[in-house]
Amino acid sequence: MKNHFPNSYAEINLQTLTDNINEVKKRVSPPKMLAVVKCNGYGHGAVRMAKHIEEDVDQFGVATVDEGIELRMGGIKKPILVFGVPDSRNAAAYGTHNLTATISHKTHFSVLMDGTRYHLNFDTGMGRLGFKPEDAAEVRQLAVLNQRLICSGIYSHHAMADDPGADEVEDQHKKFKTILEKFEEVPLAHMSNTGASVHYDIDRFDMIRSGLTICGYTAGKKQVDWLKPALTWKSKLVQVRKVAKGDSVSYGGSWTAHEDGYLGTIPVGYGDGVPRSISNKLEVLIDGKLYPQVGNVTMDYIMVFLKGDKLSPETEVILMGDDALDASDWAKSAETNVHEILTGISNRVVRSYTDM
Ligand SMILES: *Cc1c(COP(=O)(O)O)cnc(C)c1O
Repeated sequence: MKNHFPNSYAEINLQTLTDNINEVKKRVSPPKMLAVVKCNGYGHGAVRMAKHIEEDVDQFGVATVDEGIELRMGGIKKPILVFGVPDSRNAAAYGTHNLTATISHKTHFSVLMDGTRYHLNFDTGMGRLGFKPEDAAEVRQLAVLNQRLICSGIYSHHAMADDPGADEVEDQHKKFKTILEKFEEVPLAHMSNTGASVHYDIDRFDMIRSGLTICGYTAGKKQVDWLKPALTWKSKLVQVRKVAKGDSVSYGGSWTAHEDGYLGTIPVGYGDGVPRSISNKLEVLIDGKLYPQVGNVTMDYIMVFLKGDKLSPETEVILMGDDALDASDWAKSAETNVHEILTGISNRVVRSYTDM
């Protein structure tokens, strides 16, 4: 569906993406950087984002073949690594669109077409995809036997790096190092995601993989002041009405006015990506002032208590970013992570771009 009359906008500052990349380069000094732009670039618009940062990074990473195709159709030329699983349906598309596959299981060696580039994925503790460390010798043999394919990298993924201080990060790191002894001639080894890059001072190998950092956030609860969120979500008041002490608001009556005042209605709800679990815990910025969101979040609307401020409809509301709460504050209140908040901003919300 085309949005002719959008109720809200997610404004993405492209320059901020570049600034975040430069900050990461300055502080983490990664040899190379792969920009993860899966799930429509964490809601920032994968093609726009990738085009803007293509000169600043070495590779791109996506979850699915379709996401890789979208980048190629959008004109992206740098290598694109697909983290997902190759199968008989999508195998030919790696060649057609010059995408790098991930081999994370023995069967993938036979599924891929001649000449396909791939990275090996080892599971050092994530428990999702990838070969086990004890399979390293056998995997090496399979790689050598399958000269019809081109091994251009090897990687692993951290499970515990979102917040500082986890011993598992060092454990996984050591396991990967041991695996690499069997793959010395593979040109590119990589492991660090956002959490490992920002919170841990460990070997970066040949490349880091950064998704959330580019958008301006770290993964866990601890944010850093040198990253800046690139996305600002804006809407407008559509109605302002009187509310009397004792009136209850929204489904289920989870909020009751404790004084007379004004109530503002904003046309975004969980259908747009405001999680219902954030009900009565969100605050939004209007005219430089934070107002509490009250009552349960509905599919299409949230309400805010304006106290005595009789604001006019059409007044701009900043829901997320800028001087309002950011996606990390939202994540804490909704008891989830920043990734889920950002990727939850739905297609009802029109993306717009600035570059300054
Ligand atoms: C999503 C993903 C990343 C990026 O994670 P961030 O925490 O956003 O940096 C890196 N590697 C793999 C394999 C991923 O799936």
